[in-house]
Amino acid sequence: MICLSCTGSTNNTNLDTIIRNRDFIDIIEIRADFLESEELAGLGDFPVKAGLPCILTYRKPEDGGNNRGALTSGGKIDVDGRCQIFADAIAGGGWKYVDLEDDALSRSEIELVRAVEYEGGRVIKSFHDFNGVPDGIAERMLANSYGDRFIPKAAVMPIDSEGLIKILEAHLRLAEIKKSSNGFSCINGPFLTDYILVGMGAIGVPSRIMAGAWGSMLTYASDGDIKAAPGHLSPAELALNYNYKDLRPETSVFGIIGNPVMHSKSPAIHNAAFKAEDLDAVYLPFETTKPEVLIENAAELNLYGLSVTVPHKQAVIKSAYWLDDSVSAIGACNTLVRRTAPAGSEQGSAALTSREPASSKADGLWHGYNTDWLGFLAPIDRLLDEGRIKTPLDGGRALVIGAGGAARAVVYSLVRRGMDVTIVNRTVEKAVKLAEQFGCRGAGLDQAGSGYSIVVQTTSAGMAPDFEGNPLPDFDFTGVELAYDIIYVPEKTMFLKKAEQAGCAIMNGIGMLEAQAAEQFRLFTGRVMQ
Ligand code: NAP
Repeated sequence: MICLSCTGSTNNTNLDTIIRNRDFIDIIEIRADFLESEELAGLGDFPVKAGLPCILTYRKPEDGGNNRGALTSGGKIDVDGRCQIFADAIAGGGWKYVDLEDDALSRSEIELVRAVEYEGGRVIKSFHDFNGVPDGIAERMLANSYGDRFIPKAAVMPIDSEGLIKILEAHLRLAEIKKSSNGFSCINGPFLTDYILVGMGAIGVPSRIMAGAWGSMLTYASDGDIKAAPGHLSPAELALNYNYKDLRPETSVFGIIGNPVMHSKSPAIHNAAFKAEDLDAVYLPFETTKPEVLIENAAELNLYGLSVTVPHKQAVIKSAYWLDDSVSAIGACNTLVRRTAPAGSEQGSAALTSREPASSKADGLWHGYNTDWLGFLAPIDRLLDEGRIKTPLDGGRALVIGAGGAARAVVYSLVRRGMDVTIVNRTVEKAVKLAEQFGCRGAGLDQAGSGYSIVVQTTSAGMAPDFEGNPLPDFDFTGVELAYDIIYVPEKTMFLKKAEQAGCAIMNGIGMLEAQAAEQFRLFTGRVMQ
């Protein structure tokens, strides 16, 4: 279930938020710590107006609650006041769940628990950890369930990928108990029919997307500027981009690893492609400083393929059992696939078929590729085929601005096409070193020269939010060059604007992004991205 956490200051604002998200949500949490004090009295008939099951929560500041809540002062909440407000609200019988911390054991809180249960509701016993993922989450949650009387909940903050794996392992244990409890086959063991477990922050995002598939009763989502907790996605993102309700424990997982990755367009591109092919697969954003942890735990994660971005393109090479020639030549790997097919085979990783999980088909060996160079060339070739540009790539002179990771793939592509390449870079030594590797010329930015049929901008100068950035502001375009900036945000950098003013044909990096993703999709699935 997708649970919309409402953080409006009035009940009406929350009702508007619910209406806006109605198509994507199954349950609502009202965060009463965000409501103005006069609104608290209006909570009684809120569930009827909302028309969905509702959870009533007033979070303490130390657990991530609003510091300026109506019942909060000096960083503490008025516990008895909260119980009174909650007791009044639930008296009508509309609230299905009330969330209380697992240390809420005062007399008034115990009476509140009884009142909730008397009205036919259930208490969620929650704990939060904003400093990491503690050991023994599953055990603490089982203790908090009091033999399935309460729904145990944990929201914890992974600070690295090991934390994410600990969350997954807690899920595996709890989901197993839940399965046997629902089948009544746990006669002498723990009994648990529902639990809620999510990881917070950017590193925890995969656990929010996979919450239901991994066993959690629900995942939380927020709509609007005030996120009820760090890492919340919107209900629409979960439902539409990630297909939340179709995800299952067997769903094949793919993703992007990098730091940061939350801005990446790759999840939208790949998940849309999985959907178009009706594949039982999902593509997740894995923000990580330790890619090897995710790679080593691939079997538990059901992980079959990864896009790799900054800063891990070199570091992951050692994790691959087999490398495509492009990786060795470019010195960077942007795609990892767990394959069944023999090394070098062009067959998709898991040879996915419609709605068929990949789990039985991979042997766990990682194969590394670089799709950036093909992605760079594909949009040029497409425009040439369509007659929209006239600059043939084969032969001729090319200028590449920049000598970073992306430049390596660009230079590799141009050299393969037989071009005479000059590389210029802010740090001259890097340009010279890269040029030596590919047998071309390397120099500083002031040595750019002229007479090129294509000029490729590969630096991050000009990328949002550096809208005025241009590594070669004085370059004298003649109007015959094809100007290609591999940046795609903004759509038109200062470099491209200047080239366009001189009459050049221009292209940005969106075509490269899409083409390299299409090639990754082919490697992941053996299918053509539509
Ligand atoms: P990188 O390895 O960090 O290299 C950055 C390059 O930019 C270096 O050559 C650096 O010069 C140069 N640079 C940075 N700031 C500069 C400035 N103010 N003036 C002049 N030069 C500057 O990064 P990368 O992986 O190559 O990525 C570079 C850009 O390509 C990013 O904007 C990235 O988003 C884009 N990209 C696009 C695609 C796509 O699919 N469209 C794919 C990959 C990358 P120094 O060596 O002197 O530091």
